[in-house]
Amino acid sequence: MPAGPTFVIVGASLGGARAAEALRDGGFEGQIALIGAEEHYPYERPPLSKGYLQGSAERQSIFAHDDDWYAANAIDLRLGTSVTGIDRDLRQLALASGEAIGYDKLLLTTGAEPVRLPVPGADANGVMYLRTVDDSERLRQTLASASRIAVVGAGWIGLEVAAAARHAGAAVTVIEAAELPLLGVLGPEAATIFLDLHREHDVDFRLSAQVSEIQVSADGATGVRLADGTAIAADAVIAGIGVRPRTGLAAVAGLDVRDGIVTDAALRTSDPAVYAAGDAALAYHPLLGTHLRVEHWSNARHQPVAAARSMLGQEVAYDRLPYFFSDQYDLGMEYTGYVPRGGYDQVVFRGDAGKRELIVFWLSGGRVLAGMNVNVWDVTDQIGQLILDGRPVDPGRLADPGVPLPEAAAGS
Ligand SMILES: Cc1cc2nc3c(=O)[nH]c(=O)nc-3n(C[C@H](O)[C@H](O)[C@H](O)COP(=O)(O)OP(=O)(O)OC[C@H]3O[C@@H](n4cnc5c(N)ncnc54)[C@H](O)[C@@H]3O)c2cc1C
Repeated sequence: MPAGPTFVIVGASLGGARAAEALRDGGFEGQIALIGAEEHYPYERPPLSKGYLQGSAERQSIFAHDDDWYAANAIDLRLGTSVTGIDRDLRQLALASGEAIGYDKLLLTTGAEPVRLPVPGADANGVMYLRTVDDSERLRQTLASASRIAVVGAGWIGLEVAAAARHAGAAVTVIEAAELPLLGVLGPEAATIFLDLHREHDVDFRLSAQVSEIQVSADGATGVRLADGTAIAADAVIAGIGVRPRTGLAAVAGLDVRDGIVTDAALRTSDPAVYAAGDAALAYHPLLGTHLRVEHWSNARHQPVAAARSMLGQEVAYDRLPYFFSDQYDLGMEYTGYVPRGGYDQVVFRGDAGKRELIVFWLSGGRVLAGMNVNVWDVTDQIGQLILDGRPVDPGRLADPGVPLPEAAAGS
């Protein structure tokens, strides 16, 4: 049994597992407890809507570490264990089992959970969400026999589910409140890339549409009714209408909570003994000069490592640029950077939009805020460099695939 202080991590998913690893890598010899409500060893979620859902990725490939890694690294991994309260004065956690566990430092990687459909019928069998490996396995089974699927929400998860359902041979209707899929993230200029892609795969879009009710029979959901009265028949309804950070524990414990658990750039919450990272954290980003909550895999890989270093007393300012990726059909994309809502004034396309091999840049005042490479690879670092460089670019040079990206600055 390791001696010394006890560090506890609440949330045994990718973020929690990465933090535990970083504590040991950083030479921490005290006790580490990693507590998770799910019964599964910590795993990665991106395959749940891609290869694992489609049956092309093995179950073993989704886990953050081999099962024996935890014991080998003296991590007290407690699965199927919910933390129900934090007593910050006693530095003690209450578990659902009635047990208490003390901590010297605490990291909250409690993640996020799907927003539920707020309409009549939404509790019926056959209305599904996709967050956990159990959800993914249930959905895979459903897709194996369903002939019609309704997807509510044309965000990343909804569109990846639509692609998986088409792959399984089901007819798919996607219902989206906005005028275009991914409109809030990509804006109208680039969102059409994804509308066209899915339409080419025979996905039926209902845009600017509101779901007013889930239609239900004795066996469960039979479809969706829209606010304009249209009925869409479906064997299952999958809702991907966003996630909410799991902030309940932190809020009840009196920590500063807004749309996430508020931290400084060192991932410290308003209590210096408590840290937060991953989907649950609203962390100050020193380069972007704002608090950001990033609901993406790369952030869940890297931010908890920074939090662990911070817990070990190292100087930390977590300043990685937000990054995410998606795969749908034969389209792979990566997005680097951050555009505040409505915060860009120019969009530059570089490459072949027709063949879907391009990079899209979002600019403000001539400076690159973000870039999305679609079926073009190994450019993430260069896009990041343009953003960090902060100098105005020449839009003509930026758009020209013959000009190397590092030479796109105005006056180059
Ligand atoms: C289907 C799916 C596909 C995705 N695909 C992509 C992708 O392609 N690209 C990308 O960039 N990102 C993707 N993401 C997002 C990415 O997976 C998340 O950003 C990442 O999982 C966040 O990790 P986390 O450790 O912060 O939180 P989570 O993964 O949400 O884990 C939090 C864990 O904490 C546990 N927990 C919460 N409260 C308690 C408590 N009180 N007691 C005990 N345990 C608790 C939860 O049970 C959960 O296991 C995807 C997400 C999903 C769901």
